[in-house]
Amino acid sequence: MTDACIFCQIIEKKSPATIVFEDERCLAILDIFPANPGHTLVMPKKHYSLLGEVPAEELTHAIEIVQKIGPAVQHAYRSQGYNVLVNNGTAAGQIVPHVHFHLVPRSMNDGKKFELPREQATPPQLAEAADKIKKELSHVKP
Ligand code: 5GP
Ligand code: ZN
Repeated sequence: MTDACIFCQIIEKKSPATIVFEDERCLAILDIFPANPGHTLVMPKKHYSLLGEVPAEELTHAIEIVQKIGPAVQHAYRSQGYNVLVNNGTAAGQIVPHVHFHLVPRSMNDGKKFELPREQATPPQLAEAADKIKKELSHVKP
């Protein structure tokens, strides 16, 4: 629990939120600035800023909750799909520094875009990127 964290405040019931699901380890609330109606945020109750800080067991539980709430969010809005999004770090657009999964119901032609501008990579560019990442991963056991 961090006093400065709005999601911790919500988890502790010190700030209001519209809760759609809660268990001992996770909370799911409606986003107050939804990208589409039904936009839901799923978060572990313990405060972790970044995805890599969440112990595997807690993350597994959170993902299981995402798997359950995703279809509920989709069907509640008769949507055809939903986005699962984590903004991990300020540079990636994270505003609230308490790990959370965005679940955004999506309908065909809803006019919403989560696209990043992209360019096709050349084979040497892919090889260079793979080299860099594999170097970073050299200490990770398969
Ligand atoms: P981030 O950019 O950190 O991934 O997204 C944070 C999300 O939390 C935003 O979509 C924002 O609308 C939502 N949010 C920020 N403050 C509050 C709040 O006090 N209550 C609720 N329910 N959502 C919030
Ligand atoms: Zn927090």
